[in-house]
Amino acid sequence: MAPAGIWSDLADLVLPTECAGCRGVRLSLRQGACASCVAELAALRPAPSRPTPAPVGLPGCVALGPYQGVLRETLLSYKERGRHGLARPLGRLLAEVVAEAVGERRPVLLVPVPATARAVRDRHGDHLRRLARQAGLRLRAAGWSVAAAHPLRALPRPDSATLDSAGRAAAAHAAFPARTARVPAARRAAAGRAVVVLDDIVTTGVTLAAVTRSLRDAGIPVYAAAVLAATERRRRG
Ligand SMILES: [Zn+2]
Repeated sequence: MAPAGIWSDLADLVLPTECAGCRGVRLSLRQGACASCVAELAALRPAPSRPTPAPVGLPGCVALGPYQGVLRETLLSYKERGRHGLARPLGRLLAEVVAEAVGERRPVLLVPVPATARAVRDRHGDHLRRLARQAGLRLRAAGWSVAAAHPLRALPRPDSATLDSAGRAAAAHAAFPARTARVPAARRAAAGRAVVVLDDIVTTGVTLAAVTRSLRDAGIPVYAAAVLAATERRRRG
């Protein structure tokens, strides 16, 4: 799947005030992002990404690119600046990541990392779920068999600054309990499908590892994780 349609997706957006990628205002701007930002996004290629150190239980993870530049700005425009129309082009890009993570065309079950009720309220909706829906549409259009499941919920996490890594892992795991009533259907949906956990950004990998563990405990083994951006931690000293 080539990301050739990104331009038209971004160009379809209605009268934004600034480019989603560089925030530059263009006189004739009728599209979501300027040509150079679209070209930069379209040039990104999904690649394996692994935080160092990687938390126990982190599945193989593929990211579209580092969390910087146009990708970072576009994600921020989408999540924090209310540009909900970016779900479509970003979801299309996420579909590329899923395809790379799975390797060959086969039935997949997409499980987006759940959002807390507060995040959904603050952002006027579940931004990752919208991305997952768009990614699923894109994959289906390319001939994939796609299902989605939402068998976990997200609880607010305590401040982890004072916790050691084991404590952080335990807190993260407790933050994603199963929605018991949804687990049987999700388990059936997972049968014969590669389960792919979706997130927008991976930093430490603790969230993806915790979600993977909660899914495994619910009888839903995870095949891989697919994210749009990977934070590259700066080396100290
Ligand atoms: Zn731009």
